[in-house]
Amino acid sequence: MAKLAIKGGTPVRKKLFPLYNTIGKEEKRAVMKVLDSGNLSHFLGAWHKDFYGGPVVQQFQKDWAGVFGTKHAIAVNSNTSGLYASIGACGIKPGDEVIVSPYTMTASALAPMIYGAVPVFADVDYDNYGLDPESIKKCISPRTKAILVVHIFGNPARMDEIMAIAKKHNLYVIEDCAQSPMAKYKNKYAGTIGDVGVFSLNYHKHVHTGEGGVIITNNDKIAEKLHLIRNHGENVVEPMRVKDIMNTHGFNFRMTEIEAAIGIEQLKKLPALIEKRLLNAKYMAKELGKIKGIIPPAVEVFSKHVYYVQPFKLKKQIIGVNRNIFIDAVKAEIPSAVLREDTPLLSVGYVKPLYLQPIYQKRAMHCSFNCEKYKGKVDYSKGICPNAEKLYFEELFTNEYIRPGMSKADMDDVVEAFNKVNKYKNELI
Ligand SMILES: *Cc1c(COP(=O)(O)O)cnc(C)c1O
Repeated sequence: MAKLAIKGGTPVRKKLFPLYNTIGKEEKRAVMKVLDSGNLSHFLGAWHKDFYGGPVVQQFQKDWAGVFGTKHAIAVNSNTSGLYASIGACGIKPGDEVIVSPYTMTASALAPMIYGAVPVFADVDYDNYGLDPESIKKCISPRTKAILVVHIFGNPARMDEIMAIAKKHNLYVIEDCAQSPMAKYKNKYAGTIGDVGVFSLNYHKHVHTGEGGVIITNNDKIAEKLHLIRNHGENVVEPMRVKDIMNTHGFNFRMTEIEAAIGIEQLKKLPALIEKRLLNAKYMAKELGKIKGIIPPAVEVFSKHVYYVQPFKLKKQIIGVNRNIFIDAVKAEIPSAVLREDTPLLSVGYVKPLYLQPIYQKRAMHCSFNCEKYKGKVDYSKGICPNAEKLYFEELFTNEYIRPGMSKADMDDVVEAFNKVNKYKNELI
């Protein structure tokens, strides 16, 4: 008789794990207040006091800037639009190159293309999964204008070295903090080290407003451009007497008053949610790390990882089983989600290195790499980022069984599932 559930044995657990729902009576009350006012967005795409949004959006921005200690916080309707706006605000244009990560959510590599620039993929660090400074150096050209850093999974990238490179070559640094709100690098919040930091408030993230995002910066010039790009800039540059009007053609990236009202309450809950997550992550790292061949995340002593998900490596040469086969067997032992609203995700690989997507492989963009202003020759061949490829194809898996709401007993079932698969792994070979 087989022991492993995937071979017909009895699974460790069938009962679903607790849901992760951060929305409570505080958010409901705040939303009702906005609804009662009848005005769900005060934004006006013209030169008027409402150009900057309504009272709740402004309060939310003030609160966010207060927590992160920045001069400006600009609320937008997603992290994606926040990244696009940040690229525009840094003056990126056709012919330019921006160094990006291949191992991230798709928008953080695509962003430069919105302004006609070319994303150049540097490899990620094998241990912290953020951009590898040595690889960045090899990607620098006379066309490089910015580095778009992602603090992936919640772990800060190697910012000291990245900032030194940026300083030497006079580059902007945009930090994608979608997965790393309140992560810290040497006592500084992720997002406050480069020129601009961008957060996500979509419903997968630590806290959310359904959809939403926030951009932070201490640079007044960048902040002004961000306001223009958020809200139909071309319509206000004249009355506003903006001198440098390049890249100020606007979008509608505005956040509603309802989302801002939710955001104010979610921001208050964020610190406690993170602390709980950290305790869970510590427990899981300790327990799963006891299995030879499963490597818990490496976190520098000066970094605070906030675990959007918890990444592990699985070494086939030690454990003796292919990662995908091993994790499929674990998934058969406990509930694991395809959609994370049901139960936590346990998944392999994270994302396929982005340069392997058709848009890069087929150069399917009217400007960017096909632009006559572009004098470089960008390489998107398989093999350009060996670490990202190794992590995706062979070694990395991520879990969300660290979400606040998971009890020790819940996590123990997860640990038992891993131990069981490891114990009976010869059924898999
Ligand atoms: C979620 C995410 C985004 C996109 O955020 P949206 O708010 O959904 O646009 C961008 N980058 C990373 C790393 C993310 O995890």
